[in-house]
This record gives sequence, structure tokens and C-alpha cells, in this order.
Amino acid sequence: MNRTGKLYFRYGTMGSAKTALLLTQAYNFEERGMSYVCLKPIIDNRDKTNVIKSRIGIERECQWIHEDTDLYELAQELFEKTMAIIDWFLVDESQFLTEKQVDQLARIVDDFGSNVVCYGLRTDFQSHLFEGSRRLFEIADTIDEIKSTCNCGRKTIINARIDSNGDFVEEGDQVEIGGDDRYIAVCRKCWRNKKIEQSSRDALPFLEFKTH
Ligand SMILES: [Zn+2]
Repeated sequence: MNRTGKLYFRYGTMGSAKTALLLTQAYNFEERGMSYVCLKPIIDNRDKTNVIKSRIGIERECQWIHEDTDLYELAQELFEKTMAIIDWFLVDESQFLTEKQVDQLARIVDDFGSNVVCYGLRTDFQSHLFEGSRRLFEIADTIDEIKSTCNCGRKTIINARIDSNGDFVEEGDQVEIGGDDRYIAVCRKCWRNKKIEQSSRDALPFLEFKTH
């Protein structure tokens, strides 16, 4: 077998159009008659709609990856079903993969020559690597950054979790299931400045701070 695939990691912050890029790629494969499958880790078990959707309105069906899913086995089953090697695997939200699952994806590339493209976040709301992302940085063949811009014009780095007042949340679980948390992608400098502003406000509750 002479196929040579690659394991790709394409990372960006929230709102950097990762999912839209994945779906565009899927669309292009369809146009060119190439086989592909979309995969996505399931975080919230109440989510029954197995589609990957982007805010620009396109969607594609996907297969869920559970925490105990063996992706190598899943690929083998797919190959048996379709009687052919699938050319491309597109994985959304790949930061939520386990280290083991990233290793399984690498084996799909090495043993079958498929290409695997993982889209995902680099870090969590506390600026630390996710397990899946760490493993992808360690073993991916090709790593690209999907850049987006902070309100100040710098590149976004941090996925800040914000509460209902718009303040940055600093404590909590890496993944909050079913929470109402929202996220905003900011540059490192804005992230730091906002945290300083918040902590000085909390330390001096009787003083009124003017922000302008
Ligand atoms: Zn900024």
C-alpha cells in the first residue's frame, strides 16, 4: 500500500471559523468525489443531533466519538462497510479527544494512509492545553494556526469564559456540561488587563472605579 496520509492539527481560538473551514473542506471533497467522514467528540449526552453545524449555515452529518470509542476500530469498521479506505477523516472539537484517541488517529494515518484533519482549540479558559490538543501538538505531521483578531487588533490567544456580568471566570471545571457559560476569544494582553481590573475592583469594593 503506497498511500501516504498525514495527521493534521488546525487550531484556533473560539470564533475562528474552524467548523466553517471543516465544512468547506467536506464540501470540496464531495465535489471532487473523495471519500470522507466527519467525527466529533460528544460532550453533552443530551445532544442527539449528530450534525456539525457552523454559524454560516452549512452542516454535515457526523459520527459521535464517546470517551471510550476506539477510533482505530471505528475506522476499520467503516472501511469494511464501504469496502474501501476512506481518504479523509475530519474531526471537529478535537481538543476533547483523549490522548489514546489521538494515538489511534495516528495509527489510521500510518497503517491505512488516510488523512486525518483535527480542528480544535489550543487551550481552555485558564489558558492551559487540552489533553487532545497537547497530544496533537506532540505527534501531528502538520500544525497550522487559524488566526483571528481581538477587538484591540492583536491575535487572539485566550478563550476566556465569561459570566452573566461579562466578567472573566477564573475558577471552574475545564468543561462545563450544560452550563450557560459563554466564551470570548481575546489576546493575551487584553486578558491580563481585564483580570487586573477585576481583581482591583474586588479588592476595593467601596471605591467607585471610573473606566473612562
Ligand atoms: Zn486584545
